[in-house]
Amino acid sequence: SSPAAARLDLDGNPVAPLTICMIGAGGFIGSHLCEKLMAETAHVVLAVDVYCDKIRHLVDPAPPHLAGRISFHRLNIKNDSRLEGLIKMADLTINLAAICTPADYNTRPLDTIYSNFIDALPVVKYCSENNKRLIHFSTCEVYGKTIGSFLPKDHPLRKEPEFYVLKEDESPCIFGPIMKQRWSYACAKQLIERLVFAEGAENGLEFTIVRPFNWIGPRMDFIPGVDGPSEGVPRVLACFSNNLLRREPLKLVDGGQSQRTFVYIKDAIEAVVLMIENPARANGHIFNVGNPNNEVTVRELAQLMTEVYANVSGEAPLDEPMIDMSSSQFYGEGYDDSDKRIPDMTIINKQLGWNPKTPLKDLLETTLTYQHKTYKEAVKRQMSQASAS
Ligand code: NAD
Ligand code: UDP
Repeated sequence: SSPAAARLDLDGNPVAPLTICMIGAGGFIGSHLCEKLMAETAHVVLAVDVYCDKIRHLVDPAPPHLAGRISFHRLNIKNDSRLEGLIKMADLTINLAAICTPADYNTRPLDTIYSNFIDALPVVKYCSENNKRLIHFSTCEVYGKTIGSFLPKDHPLRKEPEFYVLKEDESPCIFGPIMKQRWSYACAKQLIERLVFAEGAENGLEFTIVRPFNWIGPRMDFIPGVDGPSEGVPRVLACFSNNLLRREPLKLVDGGQSQRTFVYIKDAIEAVVLMIENPARANGHIFNVGNPNNEVTVRELAQLMTEVYANVSGEAPLDEPMIDMSSSQFYGEGYDDSDKRIPDMTIINKQLGWNPKTPLKDLLETTLTYQHKTYKEAVKRQMSQASAS
């Protein structure tokens, strides 16, 4: 029997196979979502992106058992008239496309704002006009800084959850001043969330907004000089992986005191599949998706990654595995940071019964094993070529 026949939603009803227009399907999250949908469901995916390296195994060409299930559409949603046709052909659109690496927010603020707001507008409009459901990817950064971050460093109220736990329907969005261009991304995401929400309120758009809290795992971003630009600065998992692969110290920005909660990509993808298959429970909601049990400071993350990498690679850690660096040295002017990100899980738990599973140590073991296997030889080759030239 087909996987569709076996699938039931959370209320025990059979799930009909959907056609899904997935924009940004070639990225980190998109590649995992495509894999999951192909392996476990009968849904059809129209995969839209400007590149497909991370889903090549699914689309170039599609393996025989996936014939008719997934197709790749190479297009830039900024300027391609085929977009509306694809949205019309689908039952559901999932928009993942974005510039979403912090190194770009202060150095390419215009591209960041256009990508996260302007370029998403037609997607929302076509969904609304054609009565198509939309799952839009926003970010935990829309919360900005915590309320507690404005209290003196040792103030006892900083320990009270209401001063730091981030709730979809209660917490305010707190950004820094305009010259701190870091917040260009958060602000653009906030405005597109408000627009999607307003389309729901005024025009009946069926929508779900996802706020990922540091989803990490294999295929995230790129290793500079190997499968991305030498001077590129990816997100922290890939930065630290790159340092470990090259046997250079991990760089701690502004002391590495910021706190993050990391969730394993495969746990998070299960939440997205629940949203896809339970529209009555997911429509009209904004969902935090993260793992509140996996909190570390960036310094602790660096320590843990150093230990785990030594185990999986068999290479002894450096004598000085970390170095401190100011944010203006590392990111340039206009950088600023989110201090702490604990997602409240009440809403997603109540609506979809979802909980994250994988502890940080386990997900780092899996991920760094993948990084070592995938990149170690390529990094060695690239380093010896660079030193020869
Ligand atoms: P990613 O950069 O790996 O994926 C984004 C994809 O969108 C890329 O493949 C890119 O080529 C594509 N894209 C961008 N602009 C496009 C355009 N104009 N036309 C066609 N394709 C375009 O990032 P990701 O981590 O997979 O993130 C996906 C979404 O989730 C983004 O909206 C991001 O803001 C959000 N998000 C992710 C995280 C996380 O933890 N990974 C955290 C917060 C928010
Ligand atoms: N960071 C760091 N060293 C690096 C890369 C990032 O100290 O090489 C810090 C960064 O300043 C931030 C945290 O790690 O405090 C997470 O950064 P990331 O780029 O993953 O994205 P964010 O969670 O800020 O959206």
